[in-house]
Amino acid sequence: MKIDIQNLSHSYDIQVLHDLNLNLESYKSIGIIGVSGSGKSTMLRIMSGLESPTSGTVRINDSDVTSEEYRRSVGFVFQSHNLFPHLTLEKNITLILEKTRGMGKKEAQEQACKYLELLHLGDQVHKLPKNVSGGQAQRASIARALSIDPQVIFLDEPTSALDPVLTYEVLSAVKELRSTGKAFVFVSHVMSFVRSFAEYVIFMHDGRIGEMGPPSILDNPSTPELRDFMEKEP
Ligand code: ADP
Ligand code: MG
Repeated sequence: MKIDIQNLSHSYDIQVLHDLNLNLESYKSIGIIGVSGSGKSTMLRIMSGLESPTSGTVRINDSDVTSEEYRRSVGFVFQSHNLFPHLTLEKNITLILEKTRGMGKKEAQEQACKYLELLHLGDQVHKLPKNVSGGQAQRASIARALSIDPQVIFLDEPTSALDPVLTYEVLSAVKELRSTGKAFVFVSHVMSFVRSFAEYVIFMHDGRIGEMGPPSILDNPSTPELRDFMEKEP
């Protein structure tokens, strides 16, 4: 994936992103780390087109992220699954495919099952979200994000609501998705996952890029901020 960010600033009542610039080519998986409040989610929402930046330009794979066409071409997975509670896992996916992609019923069903199977949920497709584990529901959200065949999948702390066992289960499933060839941008506090899944790491600090580079920067930080952050890791 190609990322080109120029002079990106973003404010709510206060400024939370400060004149970011970033130019990356060809990484398939980018991990964003940093303390709470450092701007990771804001950055991810802007890169995915969910939110428009106050100023600056963000282009991903040569598309302006504020364009409608780009927004339709990405998937987003939130901290906790946001599946429709009254619909089965399968219907949660077929609904999107039928309503927003104009897919026929049968094709949508095949597509939904294909992605649920990919996330090891082939035997859960007819269950409601409340009748599966938190990890299974989160995997279904990932299947749903994938089902539209997005060019990039964004994940914002996809396991923060899960216990360690379910976290492991979800992150293992995400790692297997490498084989899909999709591009991923994710925020995670699970450093073992960042180390093994990210090809490139961005460390956010106070609304700025504090440091960035291959995952080896985690073991060899060059800034006091990243060193401090890593020392506090459990
Ligand atoms: P992180 O994901 O690293 O915890 P966020 O991007 O969520 O950081 O938040 C960065 C800053 O922006 C924080 O100070 C947060 O309180 C503020 N913020 C985030 N979203 C909003 C919002 N919708 N309205 C107002 N302030 C926000
Ligand atoms: Mg966040």
